[in-house]
Amino acid sequence: MLCQAALKPCEKGKKAFDGKVAIVTGSTYGIGFAMARRLAEDGAHVLLCSRKSENVERAIEQLKEEGLSISAIQCHVGNKEDRERLVATAIEIYGKIDILICNAAVNPFVGPIFDTTEEMWEKVFHVNVISTFLLIKLVAPHMQKQGGGSIIICSSFIGYIPHPYIGPYSITKTALLGLTNIMAQSLRSMNIRVNGLALGLIDTSFSNVIKKTPELASKLVPLGVIRPGKPEECTGIASFLCSEDASYINGENIAVTGGIRGRL
Ligand code: NAP
Repeated sequence: MLCQAALKPCEKGKKAFDGKVAIVTGSTYGIGFAMARRLAEDGAHVLLCSRKSENVERAIEQLKEEGLSISAIQCHVGNKEDRERLVATAIEIYGKIDILICNAAVNPFVGPIFDTTEEMWEKVFHVNVISTFLLIKLVAPHMQKQGGGSIIICSSFIGYIPHPYIGPYSITKTALLGLTNIMAQSLRSMNIRVNGLALGLIDTSFSNVIKKTPELASKLVPLGVIRPGKPEECTGIASFLCSEDASYINGENIAVTGGIRGRL
């Protein structure tokens, strides 16, 4: 991997994100946890967060035991005060933010679309889409102040191939594909790159609901799912997109699906 400072291989013993600061939302287990660990292994100071303090404590303990530079804070991304505290904490501890991975998401309902309620639609759009935008809006001025940064928005293959049985969630993931593009256009003059990952079926607690719902599970093999991916299989691309190696990649949504279609 290339060093952040210059387009040349890292000096011996130096890591790609030495001195960089990253926030990863929804990072106490699953894909966010794996991404946070990878960025820290690549040299970044990483601020973890999620809703439940017991998860926050377990995650920080585990990664600190691995010798990684980690801080953590309880944060529900749907909550304004929590988002503000998350950003303020990063600035207080590290004085800057170089990388933001917007990974946290919810799926409040699985079933026929006409059984969904207004509250479910509001919740899933608020947490998955609106909060992602609002967090980027909070972080961007800090990145601008230091001359740039890199943001990743975690979407899904289901954003391209929506399914009525997880209708509202699917539509939020389609919206995130668009948000990635709009954010990239809006922030490029500040040297902030915004890219998206359209993730495939990944082995986490989140995907259990898909695997256990016959209406959804029966679609996976026809779509081309030979096996679920591992959270760690989403991390190399995240690290690459945040690095100087990807300095000319902006506004892209990259499929990490093991072969499921990841294009409109
Ligand atoms: P996961 O295993 O359920 O992990 C979710 C993480 O987010 C946990 O750390 C959870 O901790 C935290 N979290 C949940 N809601 C939060 C909120 N409102 N605010 C802050 N943190 C929150 O999920 P995952 O499978 O890793 O999914 C991660 C991302 O990948 C999501 O955006 C998901 O849509 C996307 N994705 C996943 C798959 C898949 O097959 N797994 C496929 C496509 C896309 P707490 O419970 O403590 O909050």
